[in-house]
Amino acid sequence: NPTRCSVIIIGAGISGITAAKVLAENGVEDVVILEAADRIGGRIRKEEFGGVTVELGAGWIAGVGGEQSNPVWELARQSNLRTCFSDYSNARYNIYDQNSGKIFPSRVAAESYKKAVASAIQKLQNHDDSPLDETNGPKTPIELAIDFILHDFEMAEVEPISTYVDFGEREYLVADERGYEYLLYKMGESFLFTSDTEGKILDSRLKLNKVVRELQHSRNGVSVKTEDGCVYEANYVILSVSIGVLQSHLISFSPPLPRWKTEAISNCDIMVYTKVFLKFPYKFWPCGPEKEFFIYAHHRRGYYTFWQHMENAYPGSNILVVTLTNGESKRIEAQSDEETMKEAMEVLRSMFGCHIPNAMDILVPRWWNNRFQRGSYSNYPICDNHQLIDDIKAPVGRVFFTGEHTSEKFNGYVHGGYLSGIDTAKALLEEIIKEKEWKSENQSFL
Ligand code: FAD
Repeated sequence: NPTRCSVIIIGAGISGITAAKVLAENGVEDVVILEAADRIGGRIRKEEFGGVTVELGAGWIAGVGGEQSNPVWELARQSNLRTCFSDYSNARYNIYDQNSGKIFPSRVAAESYKKAVASAIQKLQNHDDSPLDETNGPKTPIELAIDFILHDFEMAEVEPISTYVDFGEREYLVADERGYEYLLYKMGESFLFTSDTEGKILDSRLKLNKVVRELQHSRNGVSVKTEDGCVYEANYVILSVSIGVLQSHLISFSPPLPRWKTEAISNCDIMVYTKVFLKFPYKFWPCGPEKEFFIYAHHRRGYYTFWQHMENAYPGSNILVVTLTNGESKRIEAQSDEETMKEAMEVLRSMFGCHIPNAMDILVPRWWNNRFQRGSYSNYPICDNHQLIDDIKAPVGRVFFTGEHTSEKFNGYVHGGYLSGIDTAKALLEEIIKEKEWKSENQSFL
């Protein structure tokens, strides 16, 4: 027999849990949350590695210190989450030359950086979104490294980014044994039943390991079928799965989603962002002030370019993190971790010399090949994206959409997911009220 409720929420990441909380606070407690994985959190995910807790997904609370307070920063403060300030801006003065293993003089780095920012601004002003090629694009390893850092990390210098404009320019790395995901458990506590001892969620309204595969919707309601054959029926559904999952057709819709919706979904780019963790027997990298981040300039763009040591977060942990994106992420996801460790060690030896020790352990998250994610976050073109996001966010009948990709100002971030969960729940509450009013006005005809 199908399980019946008022609202089904698909996905228990930050947006799904937040939407459920807002509904509960407004008297809609009759919900079922269906989560495909065996845990809540989605792209907020910790794992034990090398004796500490590392964040495989979201790691930073970005946008702190401004006039308005970032709501996720507020949640972190209320939960006493341990965080450390990160200063990316020094990274550009720690660029290692692939050939000599020496750091480029700061004057050379600063000039290359200025040039790259100027060229990105000009492209933006000309509304030119064609990729740079060999004639007009970056050529040398240092230019390629800076181009990678600028476009894959720091576009804030080129175009104002709402996160930094609204909430401030500071970024804090979450360094807490309970993980970034503790914020979600804390939020869940206020409306879901939790066990006293471990803070585990035991509420029967949260259903883990439920992979939604079919969604039927009509004027009268929705029906959702999971991979294990269970059926859930409700008046409305909130779909919080990532844009990658929407593009992948893991869930089939009946009737199919309208063309404007499917076109918008397929026009949104997905960023793959991979943090590879490496554990060493001892430190061989500089750890003083302004040395947390360093860059490797290689003739292949994005090849093990962006490095961070974890000594500020966990002193004595002897862990390095290297970030790869898009094509490079997909490439290393497809190869063995031993192969990736070998490549990373060659890169480290060309920066620090042959004498450095081998890594003892490696952790390679696979966000692209995870069928419940299919990428790390949405990546909208900088300009003219209003219509696209409006279409991605707009409900289709009784199917409501939420998630970081539906946040016009803060897509790609945890606070984007959080604020979108609030917005979607409010929009649905309005719809529920309208439907009730309409029913009471038309009772005699029904
Ligand atoms: P999700 O967390 O993806 O939640 C959706 C849920 O739906 C998931 O739990 C998924 O398992 C579930 N699901 C999928 N398909 C189905 C199905 N068929 N049936 C049932 N359930 C399903 N943001 C920051 O602010 N700072 C950072 O430093 C940062 N770094 C990041 C680094 C990485 C590597 C990644 C991956 C992300 C990063 N982000 C960062 C982005 C941030 O993690 C996301 O924006 C945010 O967590 C998205 O939340 P969400 O609720 O929209 O989606």
